[in-house]
Amino acid sequence: MTSGRENLLPILDAPGSPGTRPLFGLNNQELSVILQHFEAPAYRVRQLSQALYHNWTDSLDAVTTLPKNLRDQLIAAGYHIGLPSIVETYTSVDGTERYLISTNDGQTVETVWMPEGDDGEWGDGSDAGYHDSTICVSSQIGCAVNCQFCLTAKLGIIRNLTAGEIAGQVVAVLKRHNVRIGRDRINLVFMGMGEPFLNYDAFMDAVRLLVHEIGIAESRMTVSTSGIMPGILRFASEPVRPKLAISLNAPNDTVRTAIMPINRKWDIQHLVAAVRQVPLRPKEKLTFEYVLLGGVNDQLAHADEVGRLLRRVGRPLKVNLIVWNPGPLMSWEMPPPHQVMEFQARLKHNGIPAFVRRPRGRDIYAACGQLKQTGQVRTNPLLPAFPFLPEAP
Ligand code: SAH
Ligand code: SF4
Repeated sequence: MTSGRENLLPILDAPGSPGTRPLFGLNNQELSVILQHFEAPAYRVRQLSQALYHNWTDSLDAVTTLPKNLRDQLIAAGYHIGLPSIVETYTSVDGTERYLISTNDGQTVETVWMPEGDDGEWGDGSDAGYHDSTICVSSQIGCAVNCQFCLTAKLGIIRNLTAGEIAGQVVAVLKRHNVRIGRDRINLVFMGMGEPFLNYDAFMDAVRLLVHEIGIAESRMTVSTSGIMPGILRFASEPVRPKLAISLNAPNDTVRTAIMPINRKWDIQHLVAAVRQVPLRPKEKLTFEYVLLGGVNDQLAHADEVGRLLRRVGRPLKVNLIVWNPGPLMSWEMPPPHQVMEFQARLKHNGIPAFVRRPRGRDIYAACGQLKQTGQVRTNPLLPAFPFLPEAP
């Protein structure tokens, strides 16, 4: 599958239909190729880039720093800003918002806003004090990985998102909440629909735009992968990159293969070998995510196995426990709260820092693994009105 980015670069000699060539998502080098075609001086690149990534301008007409004739030429050639827009919003009892965001080809992608005042984790308090808003960003429409517990998997893979569509989700949400970069602190998690490392180039292009042009620090970003080994190895040599989270989800290969078929291709040993290649920055920790499925991977013996496995990684790390979020046509079970607490305590007893992720927006299908373009579904009938776990202290 292609990244889609090659379609963004214009065939400059051919005229484009109106609004078919999005500028949002292009880097300075690509903008410069376009502007040179129209014989604009080099400083126009910075002006256009400012309009796109700093002012978050919606339409080329509004980019008044560019001369009108240049704007008209761009529009006539089919260019437009192409910033994705929010078409539907679902609001959870806990303040979380889930959006359907429309892309230029009429598809929708899902993005989630988790407002400040919640660290999303509770455990031994070592991550406490983290009270910033978080945006959960999608990297693909659907997903090919087919994890058995995940609602997004039911869609299959529809297509990769472009860098502009990935970074554009962030900007659409920042605009909605009047977030100002530099004044407000914001975290990004690439944990929405799709597998970022199966859309590696567009994902990393989006990260570079978000860091260099939009101004969000890479240290405030986390990407989660189901364990795509070639992607992890490429990621290991990136000079600018988010923090890394690995969806482990099982204590051994037998259980992991049963719930994550990708484990047949890259098993736990491969995964551990790959993550050991990632050079960590000072104070950085690897995160291992672990979705607790009642009766499947939530026993204390499993926690002991996870402890042994993770000690072998030999790097600073922590575990995020995620209670399975239910969805239609899935027959897994949520473990009872005492099981979750005991599992967490056992991991800690084994020397592994462990946190329980407080579920956010489960009533509106906004929580981990629930993103499936459930436009028609306003509330989740499978859940009680209140969150399953107690509020974070
Ligand atoms: N594709 C990437 C990132 C998106 S999924 C990945 O799999 O890592 C983000 C996290 O949600 C993963 O850790 C995944 O294991 C978890 N997840 C998927 N479905 C879930 C569900 N129904 N309940 C709880 N967590 C789920
Ligand atoms: Fe894809 Fe992640 Fe869902 Fe697995 S858990 S199917 S990798 S989105």
